[in-house]
Amino acid sequence: MADSPLPETPTPEPMAPVAVDEFQLLSKQAEGSTYGIPLAVLVELTHRCPLQCPYCSNPVELEASSKELTTAEWLRVIDELAEIGVLQIHFSGGEPTARKDLVDLVRRASEAGLYSNLITSAVMLTRDKLEALADAGLNHVQISIQGAESRVADRVGGFRNGHVKKLEVARWVKELDLPLTVNAVMHRQNLAQLPQIIDLAVSLRAARLEVANVQYYGWALKNRQALMPSRAQMEECTRVVEAARARLHGIMEIDYVIPDYYAERPKQCMGGWGRQFFNISPAGKVLPCHAAESITGLEFDSVRGNKSIRWIWDNSEAFNLYRGVDWMPEPCRSCAFKEIDFGGCRCQAFALTGSARNADPACVKSEHHARLFAVAHEAASGGDGFLYRNFSGGTPEKTGG
Ligand code: SF4
Ligand code: SF4
Repeated sequence: MADSPLPETPTPEPMAPVAVDEFQLLSKQAEGSTYGIPLAVLVELTHRCPLQCPYCSNPVELEASSKELTTAEWLRVIDELAEIGVLQIHFSGGEPTARKDLVDLVRRASEAGLYSNLITSAVMLTRDKLEALADAGLNHVQISIQGAESRVADRVGGFRNGHVKKLEVARWVKELDLPLTVNAVMHRQNLAQLPQIIDLAVSLRAARLEVANVQYYGWALKNRQALMPSRAQMEECTRVVEAARARLHGIMEIDYVIPDYYAERPKQCMGGWGRQFFNISPAGKVLPCHAAESITGLEFDSVRGNKSIRWIWDNSEAFNLYRGVDWMPEPCRSCAFKEIDFGGCRCQAFALTGSARNADPACVKSEHHARLFAVAHEAASGGDGFLYRNFSGGTPEKTGG
C-alpha cells in the first residue's frame, strides 16, 4: 500500500546527498528563533477546491463546508490576530476564492493593518473579483501551476482548461500592479518541464518562483508511486535550479525544496514545531502546521472554544508536545543539529515510522533512513495513475481517455 508506513526492504547502497548546501539553508532558517507570536499566519478558509491535485497538502479527511467558520467568526479571528501582533495573513485553502466573503475578509485584514497574501489556484477568479480584492487592500498573490503547458498541468490538477485560466489571471495580477509569486509543485510527471516552468514564471513577471518538490504525507503519500522522481531527475532538477538562480539573479528569486527522500538531513519543518508558525483550519482548529492533523491522537484547540489564540499558542498541549528540544529521544537528543532542524518533520516521522516522536527518517541518523531510500527507489518506478484528491476519499484517474 502506498500510504502505509515503511515496508521491510533490503538496505540499498548508500548514495551521495543531493548537492545543495543544506546546512547553510537550515542555519538560515534557524535565525530569529522565538516562541513569540508568529509574524505570519496561514488561514485555510475552506477545504473546497475545484482542483484535485494528487499531492494536495490538505488532510485526507477534509473538513466539510458546513463546518467552516462563518464570516463573523473569521472577522473576529482576523481582528484577534492583528491584536496579538501578527503582521501578515496568508489566505489559503483549499481554494480561498470558493468563499463568497473573501473580499470582506481581505478588507478587514487591510483595515487591521495586516499584509495580505492570496494563495490561489486562480481558476475561479474573474477580473472583477480580482479588482475587488485589490481595492479591498490585497497586497500579494501567489498562483500555483501544475506544469508548463495544459496537457500536463490540467491532467495533474484534474481540471480541464485550468492552466490557460491561471496564465490569464497571472497577467491580471501584474496589470493591477500586485506582486506575484508562482508556486510549482514538482514530481516525476512534471519535472522534465522545469526549464519551461522557470521561463514561464519569468514571462509572467513573477518576483518569486517556488520550486517545491512534493512532500510525502497526506494525499501525496497515497500517490507516492505516481509522483516520486528518480534520483537522476532530482540531480537534474537541482542543476537546473542552480543555473536559473545564477542567470536570473536580480530578476526573479527561486525558492527550492528538494524531496526529503533524497536528502541526508531533514528540513527544519515550519521553523520547528510551535516555534515560528501556526495555521487555522477551515473549522477553526489552530495547528502547528497544515498537515498536523495527519498525526492521529493529537487534540487541537479551536478558535470556536473559549480560549484565545494567544493562549492556544502559549499553552495548548499539542503545541507544547514537540516544542523545543526537551521532548527528543535519541538520536536527536545528543545531536549537534537539534537546535537547527528540530528533528525534522513530525508528520513525516509519524507517516513513515508510526511515531511522531522519532527523528524524521530523512535524517541519515534515523534507523529508518536506509529504507526511505529503498522506498524512493521502488516508488520511482511505480505506475503513473493518480488518485485524485476530493471529498469522497479520492478518485482513481481514468486511463486511456
Ligand atoms: S493542492 Fe491542488 S487540490 Fe489541493 S488545495 Fe491546492 S489547488 Fe486545490
Ligand atoms: S538526529 Fe535529529 S536533530 Fe540530528 S540531524 Fe537527525 S533529525 Fe536532526
